[in-house]
Amino acid sequence: MAKVIVVGGGAAGLVAAWRAASLGHQVRLLEANGRLGVKLRISGGGKCNITHDGSPRSLLEAFSKSQARFLRPSLLAFDNQAVLELLHREGVETYSRDNGRIFPADRPGSAGAVVAAFEMLVRRAGVDVHTGARVTALRGQSPRLDGLVLDGAPIAGEVFILATGGASYPETGTRGEVLGWLRGLGVPVRPWFPALAPIPLQRPRPAWEGVSLRDGELRLTAGPEGRRLSAFRGDVVFTKAGISGPAALELSQATEQARREGAAWLSYASILQPAETVDAAVLEEQRANPRLLAATWLQRHLPERLVAPLLQEAGLERTLMLKDLPKAGRKALVALVTALPLGEPQPVPLARGEVAAGGVDLAAVDPRTMALRGWENLRVCGELLDVDGPVGGYNLQAAFSTGFAAGSI
Ligand SMILES: Cc1cc2nc3c(=O)[nH]c(=O)nc-3n(C[C@H](O)[C@H](O)[C@H](O)COP(=O)(O)OP(=O)(O)OC[C@H]3O[C@@H](n4cnc5c(N)ncnc54)[C@H](O)[C@@H]3O)c2cc1C
Repeated sequence: MAKVIVVGGGAAGLVAAWRAASLGHQVRLLEANGRLGVKLRISGGGKCNITHDGSPRSLLEAFSKSQARFLRPSLLAFDNQAVLELLHREGVETYSRDNGRIFPADRPGSAGAVVAAFEMLVRRAGVDVHTGARVTALRGQSPRLDGLVLDGAPIAGEVFILATGGASYPETGTRGEVLGWLRGLGVPVRPWFPALAPIPLQRPRPAWEGVSLRDGELRLTAGPEGRRLSAFRGDVVFTKAGISGPAALELSQATEQARREGAAWLSYASILQPAETVDAAVLEEQRANPRLLAATWLQRHLPERLVAPLLQEAGLERTLMLKDLPKAGRKALVALVTALPLGEPQPVPLARGEVAAGGVDLAAVDPRTMALRGWENLRVCGELLDVDGPVGGYNLQAAFSTGFAAGSI
């Protein structure tokens, strides 16, 4: 039986503490916030998308290749079904949406029910829970961590599990400082990097706030005429400062990467066919339906609120009929639906991401135990690792699985 100290009472830390205590260890859980699971409570818009449906293999496919390789052993040991069984045993009912995302049953405070279940599990397993306990330093040198500093006093332990999360939404307690301490101890890390965040634009459209571009593809290119860097199928919603919505969140990391490298440009294709095909379709429409307004045609593919301002920007009259559309005007119309320019991004904010990319380098961690290589008594799990999955319950699943592995001492 070891004296285990877990730092961080979020998804990963709760599971790690419960698991270690269930195996008979004496566990102390230190959480900076006044209560446990603060980020869990706001996840999924307060509904908490716990995990994703499907086989472990299909879950792993959502991550990059190297992250999937790392996650494989811990996910197989504690997969989505294991998470759900645990929650069901604690009385949390769950359901799966058509898109595979799994949530607790829709009730007010449903995310809170998930936290309450984990809290019950850790307390019943005998974990000594300390909230309002922000650790301020790590003491020791490879290969042993001697202790932590809490309220200026040293805290000793035999095994230490760091589950302090990422660096986004710092108001939920995750300030990311532990990564800097680990780097100071010689642990290889990748700096925090924004991910799954809204993208501010150089030229935002506050008047369009709340309007969505649907069923198309957000595209990232190296400049307006540059080569394609990345793309994501899904909706985009205009915000005061830029764009949000599923496609914007998923493309935010690549966008920030491209921006830092010097050239990033965003556009939205409402019609996924090549411009030449759409041009031919407009020509056909001109012949078949010459008196159709260009505005009416555009409205079939773009939200009504955008039609008048976009026609104006393209230098086209609102009353223009297709038969009077000159070739240049037709090209402009086609461009609006195949590559609506959103323009250059501004820096993507780390703080507003649903996750933070970066973290402890996966090569420095044993994927079966989450033990840091070169250290005898130090383990890391959850978002503190360099793991970032897409939206859909994948990030919580990664936190639960790696937390379980870290607590399996
Ligand atoms: C708005 C939002 C919505 C999200 N929605 C979803 C979703 O629906 N589904 C999904 O899968 N993922 C979602 N995520 C991502 C997911 O919540 C995180 O990836 C996950 O919570 C990470 O778990 P973790 O335990 O590693 O970190 P956290 O849950 O962030 O827990 C880390 C804990 O460590 C504590 N801590 C940090 N530093 C210290 C310290 N020095 N001393 C003591 N304690 C410390 C923090 O206070 C925090 O409570 C969402 C994230 C956000 C921000």
